[in-house]
Amino acid sequence: RKLPPTPPAHPLPTTHTPPTPAPRPSSTLNARLAVLRGDITHLAVDAVVNAANRSLLGGGGVDGAIHRAAGPQLQRACRALGGCATGSAKMTAAYGLPCRHVIHAVGPVYELGDGPRSAALLAGCYARSLALAAGAGCRSVAFSAISTGVYGFPSREAAPVALGAIRRFLEGPEGEGIDKVVIVTFEMKDVDAYNEFIPLYFPPV
Ligand code: ADP
Repeated sequence: RKLPPTPPAHPLPTTHTPPTPAPRPSSTLNARLAVLRGDITHLAVDAVVNAANRSLLGGGGVDGAIHRAAGPQLQRACRALGGCATGSAKMTAAYGLPCRHVIHAVGPVYELGDGPRSAALLAGCYARSLALAAGAGCRSVAFSAISTGVYGFPSREAAPVALGAIRRFLEGPEGEGIDKVVIVTFEMKDVDAYNEFIPLYFPPV
């Protein structure tokens, strides 16, 4: 009678088990946000977020700068959108700009005495813009400091609203594909406000 073959001392693995991905360390959340003082029209990110008005037909400030740099096709594309509600956003192509998409967010005009309502509308702009960007497969998004110019939102009130909304989105399931959010501003008052609140919303690990 034949004896069964002796099993090898160290059986060879029959199936290949893929390595379990390491949990994303919380430090990466911090690395996904940056503040930059500069001109948003120069950035070759996947999407820039414009501080637009409800008509979406262009205006002053960053809106004017984006339309000038993108060229007249941007206004034609915006006209076809038929406006946008306050607290929301719509997306177009970027035409002459070095980015791929422009997201036109309509921030609230700051209402003295109704900060919470203004804050909710501003948070809606950030959340909706990020949802549009993620839906279009964008990995990098640059925001202008929505409502902090002629719309009168105090920078020290707008910064925590923006940072809270960005953090909530990046931590949620839709935010996974977004590697970098850059907040771009011209003004030192906005840079100062962000630098004050970033350690609270995106603490260094
Ligand atoms: P809003 O009407 O929503 O208040 P504004 O365009 O008046 O929007 O201002 C929003 C912010 O954009 C302000 O902080 C302003 O200094 C800034 N800004 C203006 N032009 C540019 C630009 N080319 N790049 C980045 N930020 C800009």
